[in-house]
Amino acid sequence: MKRPYQVGTYALSWQSAIFKMAVALVGISVAFALVFSSLARADDGKLKVVATTGMIADAARQIGGERVVVKALMGPGVDPHAYRQTRTDIVALAKADLVLWHGLYLEAQMEDFLVALGKRHRTVAVAEALPKDLRISHADYADKYDPHVWMDPQRWAKVIRAVSDALSSVKPDAKATFDANAARHLEDVAKLAAYAEKSLATVPAKSRVLLTAHDAFNYFGEAYQFEVLGIQGISTESEAGLNRIRELVDVLVTRNISAVFIESSVSDRNIKALIEGAAAEGHTVTIGGELFSDAMGRDGTYEGTYLGMIDHNVTVVTRALGGSAPERGMTGKLAVSS
Ligand SMILES: [Zn+2]
Repeated sequence: MKRPYQVGTYALSWQSAIFKMAVALVGISVAFALVFSSLARADDGKLKVVATTGMIADAARQIGGERVVVKALMGPGVDPHAYRQTRTDIVALAKADLVLWHGLYLEAQMEDFLVALGKRHRTVAVAEALPKDLRISHADYADKYDPHVWMDPQRWAKVIRAVSDALSSVKPDAKATFDANAARHLEDVAKLAAYAEKSLATVPAKSRVLLTAHDAFNYFGEAYQFEVLGIQGISTESEAGLNRIRELVDVLVTRNISAVFIESSVSDRNIKALIEGAAAEGHTVTIGGELFSDAMGRDGTYEGTYLGMIDHNVTVVTRALGGSAPERGMTGKLAVSS
């Protein structure tokens, strides 16, 4: 009676052993495939580029296309003035064929590290390609410049060219591809500049005041004739004093400014204090929207690209301050904000 059962068990256990072995073999071959594909990826001739900011990473992706793998150290919502490299960043930087950073003291906390890295690695501070006569002087330091160059697409075009040159210098055989991609991207950036010019020109002259959390918009202001007021200075490191808030409440009230802007990479605490201060004086100020100041939008979205970031800012500012621009921006790709 037991025998068939035993045979059955025996047979079953053999079946299960064979099954387990098959599973193990599949597992091993998957593991091998992964190892080999990652080796192949690492050695497929693509240039490994690490960029500090999302804006620089975007330029490298646009120009490098299929020939590069780009990693941005600072993601959406990250403040570059305060950012310090992590252990993971240091590993990525050490393995990179090319490190692109902004310079002009934007990466204040990483500056020494990046300068030291440049002695052993190929690094380029791409915003420093901007000629001195196109830079805006830093309000607080005679020998420093405002780093927020990306806010003016025409100036940023020079940085895009510097990214292209840097890529070609480490991979000269792909120079023709890089040049062609850069030319195409620069055409889009020129369209963006024309859209910004046209939209922002519709904002009535008396309303051309851009009040934000920190001084990130000076290049924008100069390019499109806006007066720019930041609660904090050019870096977010400085604390905004109560006096500065009071001073700006006065400006809001006396000039009848009705909208101020929050920034995606800076706390909105000061902006809220400002709105409350104005309300206490009987003047209503609203939040005109959230602007991308020092970081782009979410990865994988239009706002997570340079074109989308600036399109968003231009469209939001134009519409909040009484000008006219299509709700979904230059090419209808913007997400509609509430
Ligand atoms: Zn900034």
